[in-house]
Amino acid sequence: MLNNESAITCNFCGSLNPIYYCNKCNVVFCSKCKKEELNNLVFCAYCGITIAKIQNNDLMSEQKYKCHKCRSNKFVIGQKRVRLCPGCNQSNISTIAEKKRNLIESSRKLIFRFRDGYKELYTFLTKLSRVRNKLIELRTSGFFHDPKIESFILKLIRSIPLTKKQIMFRVEQDYKILKLPLQKFLDPSKWTPDKFFLLEASLNQIKETMDDFRRFIDELIETSNKFLIIATKKIKAVSYYKNIYDKFEGLLEILPGELPICAFKNVKFKKCSFQDLKRSKGNLFLTDRRMIFLRRKGLIFRKYIHLFDFFLEGFEKVELVGRVFKKLKFSLEEGNIKFAAPKKVMRAIKNYFTISINFEKYRVEGEIPTEILEPIDLNLLDLKQKIELIITSLLSLTPTSYQITNPNQISITSPSVQFNNFERNDNNENPSNNIVLFLHKIQGEEFSLSNTLQNLEDKFNQGIISSEEYLKQFRHLQSELFSIRKRIDQIQRQINNDLPYNPISRPISQNLRIDQNPIQINSNLRNVENTRCNNDDSDEKNKSKPVPINIFDMY
Ligand SMILES: [Zn+2]
Ligand SMILES: [Zn+2]
Ligand SMILES: [Zn+2]
Repeated sequence: MLNNESAITCNFCGSLNPIYYCNKCNVVFCSKCKKEELNNLVFCAYCGITIAKIQNNDLMSEQKYKCHKCRSNKFVIGQKRVRLCPGCNQSNISTIAEKKRNLIESSRKLIFRFRDGYKELYTFLTKLSRVRNKLIELRTSGFFHDPKIESFILKLIRSIPLTKKQIMFRVEQDYKILKLPLQKFLDPSKWTPDKFFLLEASLNQIKETMDDFRRFIDELIETSNKFLIIATKKIKAVSYYKNIYDKFEGLLEILPGELPICAFKNVKFKKCSFQDLKRSKGNLFLTDRRMIFLRRKGLIFRKYIHLFDFFLEGFEKVELVGRVFKKLKFSLEEGNIKFAAPKKVMRAIKNYFTISINFEKYRVEGEIPTEILEPIDLNLLDLKQKIELIITSLLSLTPTSYQITNPNQISITSPSVQFNNFERNDNNENPSNNIVLFLHKIQGEEFSLSNTLQNLEDKFNQGIISSEEYLKQFRHLQSELFSIRKRIDQIQRQINNDLPYNPISRPISQNLRIDQNPIQINSNLRNVENTRCNNDDSDEKNKSKPVPINIFDMY
């Protein structure tokens, strides 16, 4: 740390070693030249954070303070010694070592954000996988509503490889952009405080690239997410009916081959003109063969009993009758049956009745497509490998550390590299990966050593330890740090020599075959949405309503 800095002296006295750096005016100064101020501060008695700074003449005033974090109004007043820059008299200063550490840490943290690439996709795929499982469950239990669901899920499953390719391609593009600003972060031992602001400028550049990357990922997944949301809504609607059928399974006695369609709770059965049936409240079910009514009994302990069921063959028509108090009237050969319910529900029953008697037109035909039956691969192994490799390359960057050749041909030493749920496998057999892991490990050690050294300096500056003690520990830590840095240097050189270099270089755009144009997907989606807007406002309302009125209005 001292080898290069020893040449620099305090900007104020011009003779001593500088320790502090002002983030505002970019000057360095020694501990003798630093200014100090004793501040009267108001602290929250509950959570301990600083609430306000009080001027000396305000000390006697009876002002009340409230913590903006925990809302407590209990506070204590205390004093705190604050270091100031001798140039601008402001406290926005750090020690030089701290500043370096922050710069390194910030650059690393930014690069790690590439992981969002597979984390976000993973989150999306788990959702997709859940929807797929639910769909399979519905289909295998005889709920064949809405063939559109299959087409949406298929579209999403088929788009996964393309999405992965797009992310990989983007990461590679960003790699090229980031190489330059990151190279400045390579050798902190050579940094001098007058370069800090340049490093900060590079950091901003890196941040912008990473922000763009994140936006790209969000937009990419958002497109697929819209399809998934539509599919989820449809599945929820069908599941709603399935739950009611499951609950009343025993009373319904579904016949072999009979298909459940819908169910409506709290419907009033008014009258049957050809059979003496008790007028009552209950649940109305429509299958592809029958209309079934379960009567509700009891006010507190509710119980349902089977009141009637009629085969749909005998039904002639259904209509809403009555001027003020509308009723739903089903006409049969032998007479009619009347129900009452909120208008919206009656209209839904009417629509569903038409669907029920023509269900072969609305139902899903054939088996569940095999592409849907195959479990969705949530591992994203190839994407993770690529991103982790690029992160590693960027963090130990040298001109030849990572060569983009063919996007499908990752220049990684062996396919045996494994990642387990976003975690690197530490028992990796690959020697070159072991060495990267080892490098990470000793870089961590370097970090904690320089931290200890910094604490030592602080203690010395605050007069907590004597100069003899300081020098003794300082020499010891310094020599340890020196040997670790030498080791890091050696390993970095070794890695650079080991990493395979693939001389094939074709333009990436030629290698990346994009099967389906994303713009196409977008315009498809718009079409879907337009249809929704035009034909269907009930679907939107369904979100808040417990009864899905009609899920077939997409046709
Ligand atoms: Zn000085
Ligand atoms: Zn508080
Ligand atoms: Zn300053």
